[in-house]
Amino acid sequence: MAVAQGVKTWRAPGRVNLIGEHTDYNQGFVLPCAIGLECRIEARPSSSGRLEAHSREMRDTAEWPAGQIPSLTPQRHWTDYVVGVAKEIVALGFPVRPMRLDIASTVPAGSGLSSSAALEVATALALLDGRSIGKLELARLCQRAERNFVGMPCGIMDQYASVFGESHAAILIDCRSTDHQVVRLPDGIEIVAVNTMVKHELGKSAYGQRVAECQAALAHFPARTSLRDVTFEELERAAPEIPETPLARAKHVILENHRVQAFLRASENADLSAMGRLFVESHRSLQHDYEVSCEELDFLVDQALTIDGVIGARMTGGGFGGCTVNLVDSKSVDEFQRAIAERYQSRFGIQPAVYLCQPSSGAGLLD
Ligand code: ADP
Ligand code: MG
Repeated sequence: MAVAQGVKTWRAPGRVNLIGEHTDYNQGFVLPCAIGLECRIEARPSSSGRLEAHSREMRDTAEWPAGQIPSLTPQRHWTDYVVGVAKEIVALGFPVRPMRLDIASTVPAGSGLSSSAALEVATALALLDGRSIGKLELARLCQRAERNFVGMPCGIMDQYASVFGESHAAILIDCRSTDHQVVRLPDGIEIVAVNTMVKHELGKSAYGQRVAECQAALAHFPARTSLRDVTFEELERAAPEIPETPLARAKHVILENHRVQAFLRASENADLSAMGRLFVESHRSLQHDYEVSCEELDFLVDQALTIDGVIGARMTGGGFGGCTVNLVDSKSVDEFQRAIAERYQSRFGIQPAVYLCQPSSGAGLLD
């Protein structure tokens, strides 16, 4: 096939987080893997002097004079992800060249599989156009775009996973040191995401609220810079002084960090029942202490746990809808997909999308 001159296609994957939820912005531990669902951007140079972006999924095109990117302001629109990244690139000292970006993504938007980070990272690669800033700076740049321009006070997990993903493995990220170790799961299990197909409006404001509640809890430990460093014993000693809500949030974060470490050990020992138990404990903590689950997610988890071959199930991503992540015995995957879809459909009248997640490599140029 002939490739048009100067056209490059960049890809950046979504991710599914196995365990370590709402811990990244508390400088804790997370265990995501990049997945086969990805954002692709075909980038071609333009002589128009403008940056133009088209999204296949949004069926929408927008354009801006390339030289005026620094003065653009947020529009609360999908284009904020593109412009936010462009501004951060300019801020690093790299002028954005006039070009046309054709965006097409298989990551479902707003489902907790991080379509936003996939879009940011693919956009950054396309706009940098081969100018290298290093992988960690790439992830950080995209995180800054989401925090500063989109207005979402997110941690580093999603962008980091999209950049550093490994085929055949998950990555354990230390969100303080921002380095990671590659974690291979035991053979014979599959990662299956099940999409509730709902996104409750509460989600966006609740995320910022949770960030603030964690800070409120941390304020009771002046010698500490993050909840990462507060032990459970310290939390218990200080408990009488801490209001109920921040206390429950901090309990989740501290114990969730323990669960990530315990999951790592269980995985190394191929202890499937411990892995499953930790998944369920994580979900219950998100449901009752962190309060970011919802009826649809709880239903999917509760049902999954009654299906043969399911090792563990929990909500994944920010919550209030989106996906569950399930660890399923390879031999039972087909039956699991059929059974969970049928039960969800008969309870809510919605056909859930089910994704078999193959760990995939991080973002780059598609050859
Ligand atoms: P998640 O990252 O879990 O999918 P977010 O709410 O963080 O959910 O990001 C979803 C937003 O990202 C969408 O509302 C949209 O603005 C933007 N987005 C994602 N995919 C695309 C796409 N293919 N084209 C345009 N915008 C997209
Ligand atoms: Mg997102």
